[in-house]
Amino acid sequence: MAEIQIKNVAKRFGDYQALQDINLTIADQEFMVLLGASGCGKTTLLRIVAGLETATTGEVWIGGRRIDHLPPKDRGIAMVFQNYAVFPHLTVFENIGFGLRMQKLPDDEVKRRVERTATLMHIEQLLKRYSGELSGGQRQRVAVARALAMEPDVILMDEPLSNLDALLRMEMRAELKGVLAESKTTAVYVTHDQVEAMSMADRISVMHQGEIVQAATPIEVYRNPAAEFVAGFIGNPPMNFLPAKSAGKGKWEVAGEKIDGPSSNGDLKFAIRPEDLRPADKGFSATAKVIEPLGAHLLVTCDVDGSLFRAVLDSDLSVSAGDVLTLAPQADRIRWFDPATTQSVA
Ligand code: ATP
Repeated sequence: MAEIQIKNVAKRFGDYQALQDINLTIADQEFMVLLGASGCGKTTLLRIVAGLETATTGEVWIGGRRIDHLPPKDRGIAMVFQNYAVFPHLTVFENIGFGLRMQKLPDDEVKRRVERTATLMHIEQLLKRYSGELSGGQRQRVAVARALAMEPDVILMDEPLSNLDALLRMEMRAELKGVLAESKTTAVYVTHDQVEAMSMADRISVMHQGEIVQAATPIEVYRNPAAEFVAGFIGNPPMNFLPAKSAGKGKWEVAGEKIDGPSSNGDLKFAIRPEDLRPADKGFSATAKVIEPLGAHLLVTCDVDGSLFRAVLDSDLSVSAGDVLTLAPQADRIRWFDPATTQSVA
C-alpha cells in the first residue's frame, strides 16, 4: 500500500513563497497529475516528495510512514524526468538495470526485472543497443523502464514526455497509463499540458501560485471548476465569462438576457464553455470577429456586450466576420462565480 499524504507542506526560497500550505492525499495506485502554468510550484512539490528538496514546514507520508526526513533512496520511490538521464555509453540493458546493480541485487534477479520491464515498454529488442544510438522516444521508454524495474511503491514523473514530438507523445501517453495501471504503482505526474492531464489522470490537482486550487477527476475539473482560475485555465479555449447583475431572487441579467441562477447578495460572474453555446432565436447577441475552421468545428471569437466570447459551433454553419449571431447557453452547463472570492457558487 503506497498512499501518499502531503500535510501542510510549505516552501520558501528566501523571500519567495513557492508553496503555500499544501494538503493532498494521493490514494494507493492512483495516477495523480499536478497541472499548472510555469512557476506555480509543481516541480517543487514533486521534489519535496522525492527528497530532492526539503519543505520549509510540513510532512510527507508514504504508506503510513513519515518519510520527509529520509534520503531519497530510502523512500521507496523512482523518478522519471524530462531530460531522460539515460547514460549514452551504457546499453539499454545496463541502463535499465543500473539502479538494481546499485542495490547489489543478484544477476538473475537483475536480468528478470530488466527483461520484464523492457517487455512492458516494448523495447525488449533494443536491450543490447547503446542508449546513445536511440531515438528520443526509445530513450524515454528506457527511462521509464529503469524506474519501473526498481519496483517502486511510488513513481514520480516530471514532464516525462515533453521532449517528444506530438504523435509520439500521444502514443506514449496511452502506453504509460496502461503500464502504470498494470504495475499497480502510485504515480505523481507533473505537466503543464492539460490534454495530457485530462487523458491520463485519475485525478488532477490544478495548481496556481503555490496552492492547489482544485483536486478532482478530470471531468469534474472540466465541468465543475471550483474557482474562476480553473475555469479560465482548463479547456481549449477555456470558459467564457460575463458579468451578472441581480434581477431579483435567483434571476440574473447577463449581457441583456435574463437567466436563472443561484441566490446571492452581490454581483456574480456567469460562465459557459464555448462548446455549450448554440445558435438560437433567443440568446446573447454576439458579433463575430474572427472565424477559425478547425475541421470538425468552427471556432468563432465574438464580442458580447463588450466582452470577448468564444463559441465552438457546427462547421456547416456559414458565418463571416461582422455577422451578428444569437447564441443560447445550454442551461445545465452554466456555472457561476463570486467575483469577490473567485470561488464557484453553483
Ligand atoms: P515549470 O513548469 O516551469 O517547471 P513549476 O510549476 O514546476 O514550473 P517550480 O519549478 O516548482 O515551478 O518553481 C516554483 C517557483 O519557485 C518558481 O517561481 C521558481 O522560480 C521558484 N524556485 C524554484 N526552485 C528555486 C530555487 N532553488 N531557488 C529559488 N527559487 C526557486
